[in-house]
Amino acid sequence: MQPPRLSASMSHDVWRKRAMVRSSTGTQIQLLSEDSETVPTFGVTNSKMNAPQMRKFMQEEVGLWSPDVFRLDIISAGNSLVCAAYNIFKTRQFSCLFKISPPTFINFILAIQNRYRSTNPYHNHIHAADVLLTTDTLLKAKPLETVFSKLEMLAALVAAAVHDVDHPGRSNQFLIETNNQLALLYNDNSVLENHHLAVAFQTLAVRITL
Ligand SMILES: [Zn+2]
Repeated sequence: MQPPRLSASMSHDVWRKRAMVRSSTGTQIQLLSEDSETVPTFGVTNSKMNAPQMRKFMQEEVGLWSPDVFRLDIISAGNSLVCAAYNIFKTRQFSCLFKISPPTFINFILAIQNRYRSTNPYHNHIHAADVLLTTDTLLKAKPLETVFSKLEMLAALVAAAVHDVDHPGRSNQFLIETNNQLALLYNDNSVLENHHLAVAFQTLAVRITL
């Protein structure tokens, strides 16, 4: 079964019927109701997730320059992007600062994780988790402490999470030379960069009602 694809025109009723998304490992994940008062510790729950190892990873490896993101993906049962993003979201208190409810944030990141192609051996959700964790570490560097506002930090972190979403595994030049639809759509200009951002904004534009 293909995972549900988000589109701005998708009705709320459709979402009610498709309140599950499939993770990169094929396991199904339940989206959260936006008025949920409790959310899972790591953003998602999964019977294959190793909770003790996850706690250890979040305490010991988040903030390092080279966290083992492949291990994170294994112990989170294929949810490295959601778990890394939700940990950063909580630690940086974005919910209070920007009045973003945790279920809304988690559903957005779940949808983004789902749009990364597991068939892409490099530009997949694990790469996104890696870039996100590295961006978080970079933003904690002393010389940058007073450079960015909290809003700019949120923007940089969301950008890191979505920066390669739905990457087809081909370069801009390949897409242009082969008259790919995306190259035609963006008139050969920054084809993939435009596409990643468009998918991110389409995802933001969908209000998920369960
Ligand atoms: Zn990248």
